[in-house]
Amino acid sequence: MTVAILPIFCYDDEALRRDNATVDDAASLSELARDMGETMLAARGLGLAAPQVGRNVRLVVVHPRLIPGITPEENAEPVPLVNPEYEPSGGLFSDKEGCLSLPEIYGRVARYDRVRLHARDLDGGELDFVLDGLAARAIQHEVDHLNGVLFVDRLFKAQRMLLSRKLKALAAQTARGWRRIVPDDLGE
Ligand code: ZN
Repeated sequence: MTVAILPIFCYDDEALRRDNATVDDAASLSELARDMGETMLAARGLGLAAPQVGRNVRLVVVHPRLIPGITPEENAEPVPLVNPEYEPSGGLFSDKEGCLSLPEIYGRVARYDRVRLHARDLDGGELDFVLDGLAARAIQHEVDHLNGVLFVDRLFKAQRMLLSRKLKALAAQTARGWRRIVPDDLGE
């Protein structure tokens, strides 16, 4: 099967703001999930949500190092999560965050430091994990994408102001039809 690196839709493309459909037939998304995984790895990301590649369905892929024990180290494929949801626990913790749809833009976002993740895999099997720290943060960020929310929406006003020039420039570029193409430099 040919795996493709997909163009990433950036701030503030309307694809990032639309409703995302619950997935009934997860298996039909296997090609999309593979392409998203390849795109995420090429972009050195920890997670990627379907709306970021212009597909408005509740599918994300995350870096295997975030998920405990799901794949052996020697076969570390990106992990697709279908219809992911989480229950927060623990306290709120503020840390630096970025997004593949907001290149070179970072801000401090408060997130729960522990979540219980529920999702399906591509075969319809149930996934249920407790995740901490960076992994918990990544899941909250990705589920936000499925709800049309970007991390910059969660910044304090003063921090948003500091980024406003960069955000305006990126939004203008996106409005002209620009999409982020990451080079496939992982080699074969
Ligand atoms: Zn993101």
